[in-house]
This record gives sequence, structure tokens and C-alpha cells, in this order.
Amino acid sequence: MTDQKNAAGPDDIILSLNSIEVVYDFVSLAIKGVSLEVPKGQMVALLGANGAGKSTTLKAVSGLLKPERGRVSRGEVMFAGRQIDNLLPQERVELGICHVLEGRRVFEHLTPDENLEAAAPPAMSRQAVAREKDRIYGYFPRLFQRRTSQAGYLSGGEQQMLAIGRALMTQPRLLMLDEPSLGLAPFLVAEIFGIVQRINREQGLSVLIVEQNALAALEIVSHGYLIENGRIVMHDSAEALKNNSDIQEFYLGGGETSFHDVKHYRRRKRWLT
Ligand code: ATP
Repeated sequence: MTDQKNAAGPDDIILSLNSIEVVYDFVSLAIKGVSLEVPKGQMVALLGANGAGKSTTLKAVSGLLKPERGRVSRGEVMFAGRQIDNLLPQERVELGICHVLEGRRVFEHLTPDENLEAAAPPAMSRQAVAREKDRIYGYFPRLFQRRTSQAGYLSGGEQQMLAIGRALMTQPRLLMLDEPSLGLAPFLVAEIFGIVQRINREQGLSVLIVEQNALAALEIVSHGYLIENGRIVMHDSAEALKNNSDIQEFYLGGGETSFHDVKHYRRRKRWLT
């Protein structure tokens, strides 16, 4: 296991979770001391099976736990060197954190054009909005082609592109994507992940991506964390994770649909013994 803390200084880290715990409904401990880091300008994956705590971890960063009666009960969430636990979700967006929720949430009755405009910060000038839309359409030419259709009639892949495009309108410094591959054909996953990787390289955007599709995610990230039952059980470079025999057997072995043998995997838990 490589220690990322030794690889980068605090100024190089955009997001750091330090031993956080998250409780829902005052009693249910969903996250049990998770620590992870996203170095500036890098892409990091948080991998794990259903219910492992991936979405909860992202919500702890974006501040979306409160509507679900959840809260960070211990530890700290640091963004660009600043503790953000007490900030409202909107204040976190203003700092540059953008969370694309699972399920491609877009305004279905609006066109992609209108969806992008609606996502722009209120203070953004008309010219800046137009410039941002052009930039986003440059990355997602399919969206440009569909810009005047109702978003509800777009394909799943196009809606996912639109959801990411809406996030980019906020000009984030950290983009958090929750299961962007969910329900999409492999060629579309490859297309969308390739575009995200291009944005990361060209714009230096830091990305934290939550995925069950370990195979696809490990192709584009530099590092990955594996979460199980609210705890990080492994973190390493993408290369090392791909070459790890446990990861291969239980997370990559099923092709596109990973985590097919989770029961067996849980029985072994080699890395915990
Ligand atoms: P999935 O891939 O299914 O989205 P996940 O890894 O994102 O799974 P979470 O959704 O973060 O997992 O859930 C982690 C744990 O917290 C689970 O035990 C889940 O039942 C619980 N949990 C999630 N949301 C809530 C909530 N709003 N209230 C109570 N418990 C919750």
C-alpha cells in the first residue's frame, strides 16, 4: 500500500477527509473513520459494493447529509486547506466543490441549453455563460447536437453528459461523480470517462469518482480507495489495484459488472487479516 500523504504536501491536496464518521438518524453509523485524499489536478476513485458508504462519503464533502438526517459526527473534511464541515452546501459550491449525484438529475422539461444556463452561478455574465456553454459543448459534441431537444428525451448517456456539463457550469475545482457509469452501455462509459479524463488533463480539474465499475474507473484514475462497510480497506495506485489478485478476482473478474461475488469476497477479506 502506498502512503499518499508522503507523496504530496498539504498544498498539493485539494480534498482531505481525516478519520470521518457519519451517522444517520443519530444512531446508524454508516462511515467509520474514513480518511482519503485527492491531490490537486488528479483523478481518484472510491470503489466499493452496494451500501459500502461511497455516496455517503461524497455527501459528507458536498454537505448533502443534512436533508437525509445524516451528519459528520467525528473527524474533519478539509478542502484546499480549509475545514468545511460547518459550511452550507451552497457555500461549498462557491468554494469550488461540485457533486454530480447518482441518477443523472437534469431538468427533464428543459433543453440542454436551458439546463446549462440554469446551472450557471447567478453572478455569471451573459458572455461568460455563453463562453462556458461553448467550452462544455466542445467537450460533449453530442450535447451540442441535442441542445434544443427536451432533456427528458435524451438517452441515458446524453443525460449523464448533461449532468456533468451542468456541474462544469459552476467552474468547480473538485468534481465529484457518483456512479456515472450506472446503466450505460460500455462504449458510452468509455466515451464519457474519456471526456472526463480530457477535462482533467486540459483544465487541471481534480476529480473524485465513485464507482462500482472498478474496471472502467481504474482506467482513468491515478489512485483508488476501496471502501467496505464504511471503512477504507485498501488504497493504492490504479496500476497496483489492477494488479492486485483480490481486486482482480472480486472486482474486475466479472467484466463490466463487477462485485458479482461479493459474498465470497467478504468471507476472505485477505487484506484485513
Ligand atoms: P450504493 O452503491 O448502493 O449507492 P453506497 O456505497 O453509495 O451504495 P451509501 O448509499 O453511502 O452506500 O450507504 C452506506 C450505508 O448508509 C448503507 O448501510 C445505507 O443503508 C446507509 N444509508 C444511506 N443513506 C441513508 C439514509 N438517508 N438514512 C439512513 N441510512 C442511510
